[in-house]
Amino acid sequence: QPLISITDVGRKYVIGAEVIHALKSVTLHIEKGEFVALMGPSGSGKSTLMNILGCLDTPTKGEYVLNGIRVSEMSDNELAEVRNKEIGFVFQTFNLLPRSTSLDNVALPLVYAGIRRSEREERAKVALENVGLGNRAEHKPNELSGGQRQRVAVARALINNPSIILADEPTGNLDTKTSVEIMALLEEIHSKGNTIILVTHEEDIAQHAHRIVRMRDGLIENDYPNEHIKLIS
Ligand code: ADP
Ligand code: ADP
Repeated sequence: QPLISITDVGRKYVIGAEVIHALKSVTLHIEKGEFVALMGPSGSGKSTLMNILGCLDTPTKGEYVLNGIRVSEMSDNELAEVRNKEIGFVFQTFNLLPRSTSLDNVALPLVYAGIRRSEREERAKVALENVGLGNRAEHKPNELSGGQRQRVAVARALINNPSIILADEPTGNLDTKTSVEIMALLEEIHSKGNTIILVTHEEDIAQHAHRIVRMRDGLIENDYPNEHIKLIS
């Protein structure tokens, strides 16, 4: 069975007399180890779908089965645990704690997982080394470049060995050169067997993925393997 199985999923918002169908009917299966780019115009439902995939939001229709478990049947505690241990989030705006060091930012998911301090620090150090920031452990976000901040966020996303990395416009605030570096890092993570789902507006960035899903008006418009991948990798 696939790692992610979404069947006829809908999400509507009711605002007064208005009903907005952010997702109309989405069916999507993603296997362990896939690298998927999610594209589509603004308002097409990408963020809504990512929020559902990340168990931050629940569908108003259809079913989401993650790792063989129906998400709709999970308790709030189980959902919190899945979000912390099974899913690594990377955002356009990095979402780091501004007053905390790189080390403490990376170690945060381990605090929620109940890991003791010495092990947290050890693992966070290794995670920072793995993204090339072993020498930035004591720096705070405002002492780092945009690319370095995103590396810290990637290290944090990976710290609990999640099943899935959800990256929402991870290069949206980075210049071209830094974007390419972050994509190389995501490719390296993918090559180690991680599953990555990436939202991007940029065709160049999407070309790093092995499968491209395009959305429009709350529906999947098309879903194809990336034919160009062999040319760049
Ligand atoms: P995007 O993913 O399109 O770059 P955001 O993730 O910042 O943008 O916002 C998600 C979308 O949800 C936006 O299109 C925004 O207009 C919409 N949105 C978020 N909250 C609300 C709300 N409370 N009411 C209406 N629309 C909202
Ligand atoms: P995308 O990420 O592709 O830009 P979104 O998933 O953010 O698209 O939005 C899809 C549609 O759902 C948009 O019409 C948006 O305004 C609407 N929407 C998203 N979030 C909310 C919300 N919290 N309340 C009301 N409408 C929302």
